[in-house]
Amino acid sequence: VPDAPTAAGDPIADTPERATLRATVRRLVADVSPPARTYALDEAEQFDDLLHGALAELGLLAVGAPERVDGGGDVRDQLVVVEELAAGPTSMAAFLIAQYAVTQVLAAYGGTDEHEHLLRELVGGRTLLSFALSEPAGGTDVARVMRTRGEPRPGGGWRLNGQKMWTSGATLASHIVVLARTSAWERSPVQGVTMFLVPRTAPGVEVRTIDTFGIHGMSTCEVFLADVDLPADAVLGEVDQGMRQVFATINREGLNATAACIGVGRGALDVVLPHVREREVFGRPIGAHQAAQHRLVDGAVALESARSLMVRAAEVEVAGGRADVLASMAKLVASEAAEQITLTGMQLMGGLGYTREVPLQRFFRDGRLWSFSPLTNEVVRNRIGEQHLGLPRSS
Ligand SMILES: Cc1cc2nc3c(=O)[nH]c(=O)nc-3n(C[C@H](O)[C@H](O)[C@H](O)COP(=O)(O)OP(=O)(O)OC[C@H]3O[C@@H](n4cnc5c(N)ncnc54)[C@H](O)[C@@H]3O)c2cc1C
Repeated sequence: VPDAPTAAGDPIADTPERATLRATVRRLVADVSPPARTYALDEAEQFDDLLHGALAELGLLAVGAPERVDGGGDVRDQLVVVEELAAGPTSMAAFLIAQYAVTQVLAAYGGTDEHEHLLRELVGGRTLLSFALSEPAGGTDVARVMRTRGEPRPGGGWRLNGQKMWTSGATLASHIVVLARTSAWERSPVQGVTMFLVPRTAPGVEVRTIDTFGIHGMSTCEVFLADVDLPADAVLGEVDQGMRQVFATINREGLNATAACIGVGRGALDVVLPHVREREVFGRPIGAHQAAQHRLVDGAVALESARSLMVRAAEVEVAGGRADVLASMAKLVASEAAEQITLTGMQLMGGLGYTREVPLQRFFRDGRLWSFSPLTNEVVRNRIGEQHLGLPRSS
């Protein structure tokens, strides 16, 4: 397994422990999910159970989870795992980002023995969970337009009605974390939303798959909720505080999205570089033409810039500080770099870059997700404008 995406040496500069972790994940991907398997599963739109099982066996689903459920490590370790997966079977990286987020939510806001049991099952790879925030009327300003309602039932417990959209992996999940409006809001739409743990097989829950452009190794779903009755202890955390609880996870999700984009960019470079070193046009390798080389160099520099921002943001987060601006900058640079590199790669490979078997188009399709998710790059720019430059809040 090569140490670095290029012949120029390893620009990653991990600590020795993280370098070992990275090598472990790289080896796992090479052994269990080599490019031919990733291609076949992606074409068949199938989840890779084998890889998921192998990740669980190595304890990689428990990275960042509390020690009480045999977890360990922190977001800096998650970033390594996500990046290495994204450089190969990218859908599994997208899946893991969602699993790490629900693990964080369940660890922080679960309160019952059943929640704790579920957390163990989750990090042990014996069950999967989904996270349903976005709705048909909006993802960016979902709290303002949220139509899913949770109403207290006369004898106790709650009744949910509504619809969720773009829920990752819901066909595979045993439970779905659902955000629903439980009180009207006055000053801010962030008020009055509650987080519920909903069994996917509960009466009234229906899941349908959406035909998406990328991330074909994991389902993306609509979730319909019609008179779904839940016990009182289905609430995660505090009633009416669900959005604030989500905000506690969003920076980490953004950082993991950054790692995924860096992985996508690296994976694409791994495909295109050998080609442009060998194949000649006008008697010289494509990569010897400056117009080609500079575009790849710009992409590589942007990736490593994103990595520096990401690592700084992660260090701040681990030290208990606020990393909003750094994390926003990292996600912005990384998602744009991934897009530039995959497009450049397809161009430089000509007809080959247009085939499905060469994964550049898949990296492009998969990487596109993070230009608008978990937050759109427009909103990310707004955050940087407001929080870093002190500009008036824009919309
Ligand atoms: C494959 C996939 C998996 C997903 N997984 C999940 C999941 O597991 N759980 C979940 O809850 N959600 C999930 N999502 C949803 C994702 O988080 C949303 O797509 C994202 O938040 C954007 O919301 P939206 O699609 O409703 O776009 P909208 O909110 O409608 O925004 C559309 C576009 O409007 C523009 N825009 C938005 N705001 C501004 C602004 N302030 N200024 C200028 N332009 C603006 C941007 O170009 C933006 O892309 C997933 C989506 C996909 C495609």
